[in-house]
Amino acid sequence: MARESATLSTGDGKLTEEVSAFATSLGADLVGIAPVERFSGAPLRMSPQGLLPDARCVIVVGIHHPDACVELGGEPTPQDVGPYAVQYWMNSALDDISFLIARFLEGKGYAGLPIAASNIWRYRGYKDLAVNFAPDLAHRYAAVAAGLGEIGYSGLCLVPQFGPRVRFVSVVTNASLVASPMYHGEPLCDRCMECVKRCPNDVFRKETRGMATVEIGGRKFSFPDTNKWRCAWTENFDLSMSLPVPEKVDEEVVLRHLERYGRHKGEEGSCLKFCMVPALRYYEPDYCRAPRRKKMVSQDAPETLRDAVLRIVRRECLDAAAAGDIRLFPEAGPVHPQLFLPDARTVISLGARMPEHAETRACFRRRLMYAAMDVCRLLDRAGHSSVCMTRISDPLVARRLGILADSAAYATVLTSARLPAFTERPQGQAVKSDTDALRSLCKDAGADLVGFFNLRRFSAFREAWTASGARLPEGCRVEDAGDVFGAWVPVREKRTVRLQGPDDVLPGSKSVIVIGVKLPDASVDTAKVTPAETVGPYVFASYEVLLHLEDIAYAVIRRLNACGYRAALTCDLTGLASTVASPRGPLPNMRANALPAALAGLAVIGRHGCPMTPQFGVRQRFIAIATDMEMESDPLLRADPCATCDGRCVAVCPTGALAHPQPELRVEKVAYRAPVVDQYACDWAARLGLSGREGPSYCGLDSDRTLPECRTCEAAMDAVASVRWGVQKHHLQICEECVRVCPAHLIAGKEESG
Ligand code: SF4
Ligand code: SF4
Ligand code: SF4
Repeated sequence: MARESATLSTGDGKLTEEVSAFATSLGADLVGIAPVERFSGAPLRMSPQGLLPDARCVIVVGIHHPDACVELGGEPTPQDVGPYAVQYWMNSALDDISFLIARFLEGKGYAGLPIAASNIWRYRGYKDLAVNFAPDLAHRYAAVAAGLGEIGYSGLCLVPQFGPRVRFVSVVTNASLVASPMYHGEPLCDRCMECVKRCPNDVFRKETRGMATVEIGGRKFSFPDTNKWRCAWTENFDLSMSLPVPEKVDEEVVLRHLERYGRHKGEEGSCLKFCMVPALRYYEPDYCRAPRRKKMVSQDAPETLRDAVLRIVRRECLDAAAAGDIRLFPEAGPVHPQLFLPDARTVISLGARMPEHAETRACFRRRLMYAAMDVCRLLDRAGHSSVCMTRISDPLVARRLGILADSAAYATVLTSARLPAFTERPQGQAVKSDTDALRSLCKDAGADLVGFFNLRRFSAFREAWTASGARLPEGCRVEDAGDVFGAWVPVREKRTVRLQGPDDVLPGSKSVIVIGVKLPDASVDTAKVTPAETVGPYVFASYEVLLHLEDIAYAVIRRLNACGYRAALTCDLTGLASTVASPRGPLPNMRANALPAALAGLAVIGRHGCPMTPQFGVRQRFIAIATDMEMESDPLLRADPCATCDGRCVAVCPTGALAHPQPELRVEKVAYRAPVVDQYACDWAARLGLSGREGPSYCGLDSDRTLPECRTCEAAMDAVASVRWGVQKHHLQICEECVRVCPAHLIAGKEESG
């Protein structure tokens, strides 16, 4: 077996331990360090150095699929994913881990470039990168380079602990960490060929281009060079398995089938489901068709497991949780847990009240799903079969366990562990009703910036807004009524844009808390300009930071609620922001919450209309929490980084959206620019993707269309309809030029504040 040469640079052992411990504290099951030397065989555009030129290593984190979710999911067909749906939340958790590790590294003075767990791809390769479905970095190869496992015949990374039942994420860094040794244990793939036999699309035999060989850290792995379009037929494009897969599959064939039949459902990959490393593989045909994984059942007392479950319930600030014996669900009743987990012994119900406000409700729901996944993973780790996100009726389970309440949502976890019955209704931890305590709470929850303003200030601002004569965006815009893949189906949407306020988010509001979180510098600095020429990591950071803000806001809202206050969160308090295209759907643009950030004394508004702070320039995003708690407003910020800047944001804007000066707003004698730009022109590039430079050309799209003189909806509809978007439309990647070039973080801090 080839061994890599001993030329790897030695790394910082203490920092390596800290990073590893931090990742584990965030829920990682596996952590490995891959030095960049092990990526010498990767295309430059998909390599750590292509992404971050001074990269020294890649931190790779894996989390384990709960075994029963894999074994029992995908029945009776792979498109009936059942509990395998947990993988969507695993990806989400990995995204969080990646983002937080990058922040951790930045806090230590290093660059950290977090890469998304999945779903940011260049479908058709890019320039000299002849790789379809190209991610910014292939986590499965990075995992091998980090010593976590080997590539199997299926092309998946198999690890000795879990086989292929693990998902990965990576962070590229210029920190010098201690390399994990390459895996040199027993072969993890024994060429059992189950992946080949079980693949519903016959991906490993049809349309292959022979065997592909990759070299990682001195080791070579060979596996069939498959046609990714064929593999993605169901898994990515959601085409029905009832359709015969054509002999030749490419983008055009996929698009024709999508046009004719539409999307059906995703699937559980059979190459994953039917694979297990030989040392851990066993079969139990009465239980499931998949191989099972041998594992040790922990000797922890049932009470210990129960307490661990309750710690998750309290950490997630759930409103109710209960566990009961399987015998509470008799055959004659309406719910049959054994249909979903044949060896179920305990049924656990987790409940969270659902706020009326839609944005706040979505955040509460996300935390409930995380709680279910984490309880399931906890029990799985202890060696017990456990599933969540099945089709079981969550409300009926909650009712049977006595915690069903109005306006609440529930999630169910089934496990073979025998837990003592419990019913828990956590009261939540109250916070002192003063702004200092709240500020500390926000910081403890992960906020970089915290500020407050009350309704008196908002009223003064509203008057200033009216006096400024700032024009609101047009009352009509173009939306896509088409599928996520393929042609735009442009439709005109009428919209009434008006200045909204705290009362629109939470009737009876008295104050607003504004929280900011910084984007990793590497995510902005590397966008478009490093050899990878990619926008993916920036796009990832821009949506992940919003989720992180929501999580912080969730913690704050729960504490306010525990003190008897009402609260609701929003990414766009004034309702004036437009959206930017992203692979996760439209996101509020960087101008969202610019005014609340200014009113909370955290930011001023730049020439590009985005909020800028003395600490981070334009490189952060904000969330606002409206609450009925009384607060004093923080002092307003007096600064103008634009005064000493060459106005490069105006020069780089591909559509001239910043050509006109912004109206001035005066609040408490402090002058601000109104965050108003030529919205039609800005939307042309950032929302509709009709400027290649803004991002689409970096994912291989030819979507440049000239901004029309006549600014009509019809012109925009014609333009979007004229682009051949193909499947890349779903993965449109935008990095706003005005944000990318803004040097305010370098000017910032030198300005007067207070
Ligand atoms: S199913 Fe068998 S042949 Fe395929 S990757 Fe797994 S161990 Fe290897
Ligand atoms: S690029 Fe310069 S002018 Fe434009 S917003 Fe940033 S600091 Fe201001
Ligand atoms: S650079 Fe992009 S985001 Fe900025 S104003 Fe121009 S079009 Fe809008």
